[in-house]
Amino acid sequence: MDFDLSPELAELQASVRKLARERVAPRARGIDTTEEYPQDLFDLFVASGLTGLCIPESLGGSGAGIFGLVLAIEEVAKYSNAAALMLLLTRLPAGPLLIAGTPELQEQYVRPIATGEQRAAFGLSEPQAGSDVMGMRTRAEADGSDWVLTGTKCWMSGVSQADWYCVFAKTGAPDSRAHDSVSAFIVERSWPGVSVGRTDRKMGVKGVDTGELILDGVRVPKGNIVGEVGGFRLAMLGLNAMRPVVAARGIGLAEGALMYAVDYVQERAAFGKHIADFQGIQWKIAEMAAEIEAARLLTYRSAWLADRGQYTKEWVPFLSMAKYYATELAVKVSGEALQMLGAAGYMEDHPLELFYRDAKQLTIVEGTTQVQLGLIARGVLDHDLWWD
Ligand SMILES: Cc1cc2nc3c(=O)[nH]c(=O)nc-3n(C[C@H](O)[C@H](O)[C@H](O)COP(=O)(O)OP(=O)(O)OC[C@H]3O[C@@H](n4cnc5c(N)ncnc54)[C@H](O)[C@@H]3O)c2cc1C
Repeated sequence: MDFDLSPELAELQASVRKLARERVAPRARGIDTTEEYPQDLFDLFVASGLTGLCIPESLGGSGAGIFGLVLAIEEVAKYSNAAALMLLLTRLPAGPLLIAGTPELQEQYVRPIATGEQRAAFGLSEPQAGSDVMGMRTRAEADGSDWVLTGTKCWMSGVSQADWYCVFAKTGAPDSRAHDSVSAFIVERSWPGVSVGRTDRKMGVKGVDTGELILDGVRVPKGNIVGEVGGFRLAMLGLNAMRPVVAARGIGLAEGALMYAVDYVQERAAFGKHIADFQGIQWKIAEMAAEIEAARLLTYRSAWLADRGQYTKEWVPFLSMAKYYATELAVKVSGEALQMLGAAGYMEDHPLELFYRDAKQLTIVEGTTQVQLGLIARGVLDHDLWWD
């Protein structure tokens, strides 16, 4: 067992740490206030090679894997979760293609993500089908050499900026709940019948739109199905491999919030002392530091597993645990850190109210806390996670 980062990963961590501190931190408040997509940060990520981090070198990326992406996102999320989401979106829609796409599809759609020429988004959720994905109503019907897709996807992150979408639709009977009744497709934004519907007014992570994708009789060539017809498990495999990446947004946010609050309480005086001198505050700091390190270990191990291809059923508890624990911790630490600043924490002069608002989405996206707990429990009940 080796807890040291490889020299390459240590160098990546150091360079993204510097970039995040110097270039991302000064933009975080502005992104939240204007709610405008930070194209300058996207350009910076492209120029720094960060959009290709977890894409193989053979497809124009740097091959740093999920672990590399996790390290980068952790650094960026110390200051801006919207910017961290932009990096996450280099992997989420590309995941099914990387797992089961043909070389042609990978070349056509994944390479431009690595080079930053294109962006993509991931469409699984529908208004009536979030956790219960098999309730989806988007239909795909075979017609000659095409599939014809009709339906509405919702809450899709990055929907406005995307050039293509990885969407899931029913290819089996509309009311079927069998996994092989759903398939994955790559749909281009420019195709007839594809449009972006309403975008959501949301609590946090502003600047990267969340909204509807409307598919109105969209003709998709048969070659744009990912994997096989009925390949719904790709959605699950893709999401399993993403657990560490969402977790990284949580640990970075928690680290950023705690560091900010610790600096503050070492300066702020009350009752003739610095607030940091009170034992009650010190114990809080110690508790949060211990929990952050626990979350980091879960996250790094899950990234290491995902990079070894260990994101199938028997590894699910370890992957889900990282997502569950790190994202709940982000909510807890951002709240406690805000409290440590008192009124100042509540005000926009400091970033903690922003961290607090941003943190909450992490326990909902890509499988809620309750869904992760269900998956962990299933793993223990099935002895996928067992200690003898
Ligand atoms: C900011 C944001 C960005 C998003 N981006 C994307 C995206 O890019 N692509 C995409 O496809 N989706 C996206 N989503 C949607 C997200 O994946 C869903 O919100 C999530 O899967 C939960 O679905 P739901 O909101 O319909 O909640 P519901 O499924 O309606 O659940 C409501 C509540 O009930 C709980 N619950 C549900 N079932 C159970 C159960 N069996 N046991 C116990 N509790 C249960 C849930 O945990 C939740 O707390 C995004 C959501 C948000 C908020």
